[in-house]
Amino acid sequence: MITHLLAPNPGPMTLSGTNTWLIGEPGRVVVVDPGPEDAAHRRAIIDAAGGASLIIATHRHHDHTEGIAALADHFGCPVRAADPTLCRDGDRLVDGEVINSSGVELKVLATPGHTDDSICLVVHSAGALLSGDTILGRGTSVIAHPDGNLTDYLASLDRIADVLAAEHLRRILPGHGPEITDPAGVVAAYRQHRLDRLEQVRSALAAGAVGAEEIVAAVYEGLDPALVPAAMQSVRAQLEHLGEGTTP
Ligand SMILES: [Zn+2]
Repeated sequence: MITHLLAPNPGPMTLSGTNTWLIGEPGRVVVVDPGPEDAAHRRAIIDAAGGASLIIATHRHHDHTEGIAALADHFGCPVRAADPTLCRDGDRLVDGEVINSSGVELKVLATPGHTDDSICLVVHSAGALLSGDTILGRGTSVIAHPDGNLTDYLASLDRIADVLAAEHLRRILPGHGPEITDPAGVVAAYRQHRLDRLEQVRSALAAGAVGAEEIVAAVYEGLDPALVPAAMQSVRAQLEHLGEGTTP
């Protein structure tokens, strides 16, 4: 059994807000991504969960992890993540590890790219992949230099495509946005989107654009000014992938 709770932190980077997922039997669920520090959201998690046996973070970004401390205190349960600094009373998650908790089997998939500590979780019994911010329910994930790495990200997308097929998974439950019911199609579209963007960056470079700012102006025409800093970081990740310098 998988339950979804939406945190009240909508925004340009978080879409409708952070998704918190509760997996397993009430009273001893696994909480994936507690979300931001927010008393009402914490109360909703506690009410829906009853009790928890484990808290997992898909990656270190605050909109997924800020709420961990108070929730772990409340439930008195361990916290695990790929980043050891997020762990409490538990080891760091390793690629391929199988967690048996709350009557459910979760398999850990290291999927670096959005951040170097990003993981996905396979919930085979539910035919689902929990994707954190590696795949989102709407739009595309931000790969921001230097925390994100596009070379790693493209390899992670390939790996996810393989796992979706091998495990016959039918849906992706993302860190933001709605559930994805065409997982293979969405992963293929993500990959194509990245390759298209890289082609645009190559063209901008060939046309004489110098540095991230000029490339953003050439590639992201009419971009909301609020999103320019994110686009700059994204272009830096693309330049790094292409083996070009990332400054200025
Ligand atoms: Zn997020």
